[in-house]
Amino acid sequence: MTTEIASRPELQNAADAPQHIDTLALHAGAFPDPTTGAILTPIYQSTTYVNEAVGKHKGYTYSRTANPTVTALELRLAALEGAEHCSCFGTGLGATTALALALLGAGERAVVSDVVYGGTVRLFQQVLARFGVEAEFVDTADLAALAAALQRPTRLLFLETPANPTLKLTDIAAAARLGKQAGAVVVVDNTLLSPALQQPLALGADVVLESTTKFIDGHNATVGGALITRDPALHERFTFHRNATGTIQSPFNAWLTLQGVETLPLRMERHSRNALRVAEYLAAHPRVVRLLYPGLPTFSQYELACRQQKSGGALLAFEVEGGTEAGIKVMNAVRLCSLAENLGAAETLVTHPASMTHSAVPRELREKTGITDGLIRVSVGLEDPDDLIADLGRALAA
Ligand code: PLP
Repeated sequence: MTTEIASRPELQNAADAPQHIDTLALHAGAFPDPTTGAILTPIYQSTTYVNEAVGKHKGYTYSRTANPTVTALELRLAALEGAEHCSCFGTGLGATTALALALLGAGERAVVSDVVYGGTVRLFQQVLARFGVEAEFVDTADLAALAAALQRPTRLLFLETPANPTLKLTDIAAAARLGKQAGAVVVVDNTLLSPALQQPLALGADVVLESTTKFIDGHNATVGGALITRDPALHERFTFHRNATGTIQSPFNAWLTLQGVETLPLRMERHSRNALRVAEYLAAHPRVVRLLYPGLPTFSQYELACRQQKSGGALLAFEVEGGTEAGIKVMNAVRLCSLAENLGAAETLVTHPASMTHSAVPRELREKTGITDGLIRVSVGLEDPDDLIADLGRALAA
């Protein structure tokens, strides 16, 4: 970071600086406002910054390049992921776009997990492909299949784990080893767990991508994205492309996200506890024929979940007997839960991936990867789990 705020010694990850995630979520990147003592970082709602002389300024020139409120969020997110560098974007997909523009050119290739957020598939297949970038969607949970895909020259290995919406896991340490041997930059979309429950950089990834729209904000209040890395050269390329294409986050969204992220570790603990209760209820329900939750011992990759995640997380997915029609009836019948696109909010959100978040994924890829038309995704919120179970029970009986 080259800004004046970032160069303040008390904001750096000094050897004696707190390292515990609960403390970092509150304090990293924060300091009393030098003029007023305000405890919260102000919203620097300013387009430009006055130069003291030609070539002499305080680290900020124009808010498309950098903004002090955005810097405060970047310092905090970097600290939470155990990194030195972070760049924040207008949305999560804005971060994915900057990543692709920074790393890939015409004729170059990315290997991408075959289950990822639908917008990521759309970006690679319907936008980047037009510029000559090739993406191969591979089952990255299968390390032999991944190794085979990496035989061809690969610039970027893009993993999403747990994957939205089936929660399939990829072994980050093993996949990162394979990706690096092949000379690829290894990126993990950590949106579904956040740094409170999974630390991909410590497992060998080069870059973490976050849609801050989800758990990091946590309150359905903003859209935003971030790229976090320990590599200064990669960071430089991300901020260059952010400035060149104009995709920085707004100061107001950064400020709201700074408030939301303060309670991230606390919320993720409760989200996981509630999700486990709801998953146990659904597992025992006679109408549920398929249930996906990494925190349940019956989950096919439970051992990997225990190894690389702190807990099962907030997301689960299930299908009911009677297929698509019955599933749609359940989703239409919830009352406390909201039928909505988002995930990671304080309120419980129920989503129909086939028609909502993953509608841009070609049907063959959806069918091959288990994103069936009847799949119901639940982002379990912070309500009392008994109330959620009562609502889902009512909907299942409908
Ligand atoms: N990554 C994952 C795993 C997501 O679920 C989403 C959005 O749902 C994104 C990235 C894109 O984030 P945004 O909606 O902030 O652009």
